[in-house]
Amino acid sequence: MTADIPRITDDPHAREALSRVRVLYTDLDGTLVAKGGSILADADATPSLVVAEQIVALNRAGLAVVPISGRGRIQLRELTQLLGWDGYIAEAGGIIVHGTGLDFEDRVDLGEWPADAIPPGVSPFEAINDVRAAETLMEAFPGRIEHYAPWQLDREVSLLLRGCLDTREGQAVLDTLPLPLDLVDNGMLRSYGTLTCRDMPPHAYHVVPRGVCKARAIELDLAWRGLSREQAAAIGDSATDLQMADAVGVMALVANAFGSNGVTAGLKREPRDNVWCTAGERTEGWAEFARAWRGAIG
Ligand SMILES: [Mg+2]
Repeated sequence: MTADIPRITDDPHAREALSRVRVLYTDLDGTLVAKGGSILADADATPSLVVAEQIVALNRAGLAVVPISGRGRIQLRELTQLLGWDGYIAEAGGIIVHGTGLDFEDRVDLGEWPADAIPPGVSPFEAINDVRAAETLMEAFPGRIEHYAPWQLDREVSLLLRGCLDTREGQAVLDTLPLPLDLVDNGMLRSYGTLTCRDMPPHAYHVVPRGVCKARAIELDLAWRGLSREQAAAIGDSATDLQMADAVGVMALVANAFGSNGVTAGLKREPRDNVWCTAGERTEGWAEFARAWRGAIG
């Protein structure tokens, strides 16, 4: 499946592009963490330092890593501090934070919504709930979409759902609501929860203010950091992650990304010249990328 995409470790163009990179935006689930969610494990969840060694080496080299994930602010704040990093992008691009702990600056992105789209004191998450976005999807696709418990709690910008949807059909349902919303496919999950569909793997979906996405958040973050697109790389495993290629010089897909229909369809629909793959899956692919990056920096 990865035959048409060059390997990050083999391609001289990748090395040249990586030599300019100073910040890496990394997806978490399916990318930085192993099956089951540990950083201290190989791709199949056997205990391993494969990623930890690379995180330490990147931190020593002063190369910035920014987690960018569908997870919420509280989860990312803890992870960022534990790993010695200094910023993160939460809720699939909706929240951009510099700093850790109590010493931080943040911004919430409303995407294409005008600043007065929601009343003061109402979060985008509350506004999306007020138009019954989740309920409307559940009524349109019974048994095929549900809240992704318990991770749907403590949200500020996006609804988090689990389901088996054709995203275009789901988007058409959202388009009937009085707020402009996007349905974002954030990759495959391992558990169906209480879904009854079995004709496709379950995926995580976000419902966000129209325009909110990881690529837009990276553009905002790079402007804030005073860095150019060529000074940024991104790594991920989902169709949503692939769109980060629009905002960075180097886009890497870990090998397990190619099991996602959304990724293969996205690459077919829009061939790109700044996308590379790793041979390894999940943590092993991430470590492979980090070694290539450090090697290119010299
Ligand atoms: Mg992922």
